[in-house]
Amino acid sequence: MKKYDYLIIGSGLFGATFAYEANKKGKKCLVIDKRSHIGGNIYTENMEGINVHMYGAHIFHTNNKEVWQYINKFAKFNRYTNSPIARYKNEVYNLPFNMNTFNKLWNISTPREAKNIIEKEKKEAKISRPKNLEEKAISLVGKTIYEKLIKGYTEKQWGRKATELPPFIIKRLPVRFTYDNNYFNDMYQGIPIGGYTRNNRKDAKRNRSKIKL
Ligand SMILES: Cc1cc2nc3c(=O)[nH]c(=O)nc-3n(C[C@H](O)[C@H](O)[C@H](O)COP(=O)(O)OP(=O)(O)OC[C@H]3O[C@@H](n4cnc5c(N)ncnc54)[C@H](O)[C@@H]3O)c2cc1C
Repeated sequence: MKKYDYLIIGSGLFGATFAYEANKKGKKCLVIDKRSHIGGNIYTENMEGINVHMYGAHIFHTNNKEVWQYINKFAKFNRYTNSPIARYKNEVYNLPFNMNTFNKLWNISTPREAKNIIEKEKKEAKISRPKNLEEKAISLVGKTIYEKLIKGYTEKQWGRKATELPPFIIKRLPVRFTYDNNYFNDMYQGIPIGGYTRNNRKDAKRNRSKIKL
């Protein structure tokens, strides 16, 4: 006699949702995970009243109304809008690059002014066949944006100089000529109030000691 209908490897959003839906249809599921906790990458722990996203910040976002209504059955979501900022030396800029970023960079206010500066910098760089990531980025957005908002981030992420990385890593760099700091284009986004996962203090302490980032 079989014990389970499904063996599900991984208790992240996908595995958990699959198990929940299969279970509703009368199937018996066994969910296993190599991590010491449920939730996969969205796992959160409450520390001193703050919900810490243990694998990096996760913002739930979708354009699908059905998905949004579905997920809201499990938790109440806040109205968080992801509008990241980047720090370059002591200067703070909005990402993804948009008119707010360009206003701060060049003290200009219209899309035409921003486009003119970017085109001028691209022409000045005279790069027709980029040999590495640095040249590719400059050929797409000009030197200022590259130096202040791409170089440091890319080199940290890859652990190598941008001049040592191949150009094909970036195909295009989205540039917005509107005053819109919203990172996602999706209609619905938010973070569950109370975190993605519930855990008591004892469990959290045990899990934390096992998490390898
Ligand atoms: C830093 C970071 C930030 C992110 N931010 C966002 C965001 O803001 N919004 C967004 O939509 N997405 C974001 N993502 C992507 C996000 O993680 C996924 O969309 C979502 O969590 C994936 O769910 P999942 O169930 O597919 O996978 P996961 O959450 O990765 O779950 C998979 C689980 O399977 C387990 N597993 C894998 N292999 C095995 C095995 N062989 N044996 C046992 N267990 C196994 C893993 O331990 C893990 O717990 C981010 C990802 C990262 C890394």
